[in-house]
Amino acid sequence: MKVHLKQIPAQGLHLEGEEDCPIQELESEGIRCVGRLHYDLDLGVAGRALWANGSLSQAVELRCVSCLEKFVHKIRVPAFAVHMELDGPETVDLTPSVREEILLNLPAHPHCDRDGDRICKAKQVTAAEQDIKRESDWSALDQLKLNIKPLKH
Ligand SMILES: [Zn+2]
Repeated sequence: MKVHLKQIPAQGLHLEGEEDCPIQELESEGIRCVGRLHYDLDLGVAGRALWANGSLSQAVELRCVSCLEKFVHKIRVPAFAVHMELDGPETVDLTPSVREEILLNLPAHPHCDRDGDRICKAKQVTAAEQDIKRESDWSALDQLKLNIKPLKH
């Protein structure tokens, strides 16, 4: 994401668009980019520094640490902000900062139900086990009743 300083007017510049996914090399670690990076930024030059702030989002496919299934998670950076000292070059590359921010917001232990739009299969199994346990509790109670009845006579 290269910015030409001459293109930034005194009142600042609004940039919105898409770029290639900045973390494509993580595919070998099971993190796959889904679509491109979306950015929505305000840029400006103040003195000898460039500032930028706005939001970023990048959809990625991750593997759930509980059920091991793949799922798509959208990394959102709602308050991306950079401040870079300018020391000569006419273009500034924001890609390293963007990449770092996306990496920081990557979930370290991804759970497929983190966005609340699905139920993790690993949790469904646990729930089913609890149902079976509850049923056996009831049958134990039934047997207890059967044992009590004869005593009343
Ligand atoms: Zn899961």
